[in-house]
Amino acid sequence: MRSDDLELLITSGEIEKGVRELGARLTSIYSGKRLVVIPLLKGGFMFASDLVRSMALDIQIEFLGAASYGEQTRSSGEVRLTLDTTLPLKGRDVLLVEDIVDTGLTLAYIQKLIRSREPASLRTVVLLDKRAGRQVDVEVDEVVFDIPDRFVFGYGLDSPGGFHRNLSDIVTVKE
Ligand code: 5GP
Repeated sequence: MRSDDLELLITSGEIEKGVRELGARLTSIYSGKRLVVIPLLKGGFMFASDLVRSMALDIQIEFLGAASYGEQTRSSGEVRLTLDTTLPLKGRDVLLVEDIVDTGLTLAYIQKLIRSREPASLRTVVLLDKRAGRQVDVEVDEVVFDIPDRFVFGYGLDSPGGFHRNLSDIVTVKE
């Protein structure tokens, strides 16, 4: 993919500001609590690593991996768990950190799985929300950016084929 074909959607500076503000809000919401933060892999890794560094709390990190995409640019609806947590979540305050919500199918599946482990609380934060793509009603507590119904990548999200996760900005292909 040539860089001329890419359209800049959200700059690294805007991301940094949005993530820092979210970290401050979460710090006050969870004040005095110990938290288990669960980045949802693969896409949530970069967002989560910046977010936890902007939260002044006692945090443990666990990982969940989910895949639903294959080579297409819209969720197949079939979600596969590719990595599971190792700590017990029962009675813990859990924060799920996801890169993007589109149809909502991935988050609905993962939230159901976490709830079945009886955490004391579960909140979900997403960096990007494509509201126009929603197929199931899913609870999202905090959204950093609402975006149009375009396929985006960068800042942890991959382009078709699995590349471009290491871009600092969020981009899309020019229409
Ligand atoms: P959903 O299940 O809500 O349709 O989609 C959630 C998952 O699909 C995300 O975790 C992400 O991996 C992927 N996804 C949805 N929209 C996009 C997009 O625009 N770009 C990329 N790279 N992945 C997306």
